[in-house]
Amino acid sequence: MSELQFEKSLRGSRAYEIMLADIRKGLGHAYRIVSADDDLADSFFSLVAATVFCQSGDACLNCAECRKVLHLSHPDVIHVNRERDAIKRETIVDLIDSVEIRGMSGKKLYIIHRADLMNLTAQNKLLKTLEEPPEGVTFLLGTANEMSLLETVRSRTRAVYLDSFDERSIYDELIALGKDERQAAVAAACSDGMPGKALLIADSAQYVGYFDAATALLARLNKSSDIVELSPAVQAVDDFDEFLNVLSIIIRDMMVYKHDPSLAPSGELAGDIASLGAKYSDRALAEIVLLINLARKKRSLNVNLQATVDSLLFSMLEVKHKWQQ
Ligand SMILES: [Zn+2]
Repeated sequence: MSELQFEKSLRGSRAYEIMLADIRKGLGHAYRIVSADDDLADSFFSLVAATVFCQSGDACLNCAECRKVLHLSHPDVIHVNRERDAIKRETIVDLIDSVEIRGMSGKKLYIIHRADLMNLTAQNKLLKTLEEPPEGVTFLLGTANEMSLLETVRSRTRAVYLDSFDERSIYDELIALGKDERQAAVAAACSDGMPGKALLIADSAQYVGYFDAATALLARLNKSSDIVELSPAVQAVDDFDEFLNVLSIIIRDMMVYKHDPSLAPSGELAGDIASLGAKYSDRALAEIVLLINLARKKRSLNVNLQATVDSLLFSMLEVKHKWQQ
């Protein structure tokens, strides 16, 4: 098992291809690595740093240099804000002082985690260094929200987008990490293509519970007397909003699957989604999405939980029958 999470997917990503090409021909001054997934960005930084310093030039993850990168002890890989807090001017002032000190290897990589959390004075302070760092110095700015960066910072950094991954590769990675098949399938389906989120989900027993509750609801909702039986189970979930998110994801997967079975979710979930899909028409599913949004809104307005759930289930049943296949 790789010490680097999602190594395989990262190596195959377009973002890595771009960085690798630049490492081979000479790195630029500054890049901003754009990703909504902080954990994924961290793995990516390690992979890039290993590629820069690896003795075999290939991020083997085994040589002395790679090991130092992975253990965060490489003297020429400087991490700033690994804790992903707000970044103040003083932090950047210290950074600028250290930039002038020559690296042991002649190269230095500054990794600023969540650089979009720099306040404006800090960003302004960093500008000149980003533009003209000493020779051999490269900045990697982790960025979840590009719009939080000043236009002047953006124009001085090359954007590299760490796009979301497809469900299948996330599933495969989770299996490789030793997660059980069902956990992995649910996590991949609910991750929105973000491996870090998938890992969190795979490690939470709750999500599989939500998934099972949501699929049972969709499978068993046939007549009004079912609601009496199904409603208490839905009301009993720990986090109703999260349950609604999972329910929406299942509905989305059902819609996708009906139109293109090759886009079926991973592993054993495909069968669940296919058989559920056969019970609901497209029109019914589309209306259920709206009903779920309505339920969310009611809860945000503090409408009583039981009333919200009962009304959601009644309306779902109604549209299911109204728009028969
Ligand atoms: Zn190596």
